Amino acid sequence: MPHPPSKAKVYFAGLRADSRRNLFDKLDGLLEAVSLADRFKKGHLVAVKLHFGETGNAAFIPPVFVRRVVERIKAAGANPFLTDTNTLYVGTRGNSVSHLKTAIENGFAYAVAGAPVIIADGLRGEGVTRVKINGRHFKEASIASEIANADGLVVLTHFKCHEMSGFGGALKNVGMGCAARAGKLAQHSNCAPVVDPAGCTACGECSLHCPADAIDVGAAAVINANLCIGCGHCIAACPESTIDVRWDETAGRLQEKMVDYACAALKGKEGRAVYVSFVRDVSPACDCYGHNDAPIVPDAGILASTDPVAIDQACADIVNAETGFKNTALASGHEPGGDKFRGVHPAVDWGVQLDAAEAAGIGVRRYALEKI
Ligand code: SF4
Ligand code: SF4
Repeated sequence: MPHPPSKAKVYFAGLRADSRRNLFDKLDGLLEAVSLADRFKKGHLVAVKLHFGETGNAAFIPPVFVRRVVERIKAAGANPFLTDTNTLYVGTRGNSVSHLKTAIENGFAYAVAGAPVIIADGLRGEGVTRVKINGRHFKEASIASEIANADGLVVLTHFKCHEMSGFGGALKNVGMGCAARAGKLAQHSNCAPVVDPAGCTACGECSLHCPADAIDVGAAAVINANLCIGCGHCIAACPESTIDVRWDETAGRLQEKMVDYACAALKGKEGRAVYVSFVRDVSPACDCYGHNDAPIVPDAGILASTDPVAIDQACADIVNAETGFKNTALASGHEPGGDKFRGVHPAVDWGVQLDAAEAAGIGVRRYALEKI
């Protein structure tokens, strides 16, 4: 008979502060609680996985907090770098050049954050390491090479709502956020990208970048779905932004696929992964949009754990325990205990990712919250 899952430790720092202990001191306390300094050795290259924010979005984690985390990793003798992967869709982070520019414009310059930015999946998302897994949907995952190559992982997450997973927490930051473009495409879609012929100038760039020779360009480009290997390179290569993903995956299956990918990204990093989540500016949608709508609940605090499932569960419980703001995107569940994520995205069962991750063995939903 299987043992019931034990409880994981999650540490919480509220946002109250005074002249003797500011929020950076409290962040230090959280990092000490999860033994950050003991997890990395001298010379380790540690990936600090975060979201630099799309241009126009202001809800991402402020660089001054990231700098504090960087300082603590350096104090342990390791070498941190800030990282994220290129997006599947065309925006200001769709290739490494515009992604780096966006990161710097949003404040993640070396002079501010104290560590270099390395986009983890190469110039256009071709930097892939294939990781074998025994997942529910995948036996192999396309993980961004520089994250796969890193010795350790510090996952900094802005916890907010999300239109496909209910909330965007640590699991999503790892599962979707550490996937190279091919991995993101595999999670979001069941089939090849599609060309909108109305926007196509027949320039042929997509065909030049296609490793599978799957694109014919006549009067307009046409993708042969039988040949397509789902790398997503054509999406990044099209100067007219006229190739798009068929966003056809259901929210439940997408969450399960995300968990498969989280298992792949964490493979080999056992004991060397730490999660810090910021429950502030809990916006109704992810930071990939070029705007952020008003938060739906009051800011709560910062959490840390070595368990990605427990920290997401704890963040969700904290958000749901709040009284929701009126005149925001929150349509229901305003009362303490009301489901805020369903209140914004009513069709999405956000618990799927937590159940799937627990079943996959990368964490547990039960936790003990310790205030620092
Ligand atoms: S996704 Fe990759 S393989 Fe498929 S058509 Fe685009 S470039 Fe070719
Ligand atoms: S790169 Fe874009 S515009 Fe050029 S042929 Fe391909 S789909 Fe058409």
